Amino acid sequence: MAKIIRAIAAKKKPVPKKAARSTAKKPAKAAPKPPAKKPPRPKPPKSSPWTAEEVYEAFSRFRKANPEPKGELEHLNPYTLLVAVVLSAQATDAGVNRATRPLFAIADTPEKMLALGEDTVRDYIKTIGLYRNKAKNVIALSEKLIAEFGGEVPRTRAEIETLPGAGRKTANVVLNMAFGEHTMAVDTHVFRVGNRTGMAPGNNVLEVELGLEKIIPSEFMLHAHHWLILHGRYICLARKPRCDVCVINDLCRWPEKTV
Ligand code: SF4
Repeated sequence: MAKIIRAIAAKKKPVPKKAARSTAKKPAKAAPKPPAKKPPRPKPPKSSPWTAEEVYEAFSRFRKANPEPKGELEHLNPYTLLVAVVLSAQATDAGVNRATRPLFAIADTPEKMLALGEDTVRDYIKTIGLYRNKAKNVIALSEKLIAEFGGEVPRTRAEIETLPGAGRKTANVVLNMAFGEHTMAVDTHVFRVGNRTGMAPGNNVLEVELGLEKIIPSEFMLHAHHWLILHGRYICLARKPRCDVCVINDLCRWPEKTV
């Protein structure tokens, strides 16, 4: 009897649902599609590098058009040049000149600037952007010049770069304009011209600086910085370059030039 009951129970045992499902053949899932790749950004066409003859020709024309180019930051001596360049960060030369004209008339040395004090310096330069921080830097760099350099502007890039508010560009401008060194200060204009023309393409200001130093013949290096700044400021404008009156328009590699 017990045997019969066990046999019936075994016969009636339901198959667990899970097991039943697991035996069923699942339809194969479609593999997830990889995200669609963005098409690569079109790169500007690579221009051929300038030849030495072309670079010589370009700077000969700059020299012919403007034999003695001058910087537009007003100053009385290396110290006031240094201060003016420190103040010119993110400001126009004209705006800096308006502020420094009366300031330099009463403070053209680090000692006189210190005697004025930070509050007064701040009042003189308050029309210039970032004036609070710049006033601090002018006082701090004046203190440092007196404490470590006998009140004189040092003549090496490394030393100038230790002064508050002064970076590589400031050092290059001061070394070039005050001491006649063959340095190349790269500001926004020089950066644009170096890249657009294809003369010294670079992803950052240092690359453009080193590229220009490499290709510009020594005989042009004293004024090269000013020629390129003035070219960028008045001819090779950021939005609407004046290619029709550009003296190097036949040499320029910019694909969008308008001549
Ligand atoms: S041709 Fe035009 S883009 Fe080229 S350097 Fe001259 S102004 Fe600038």
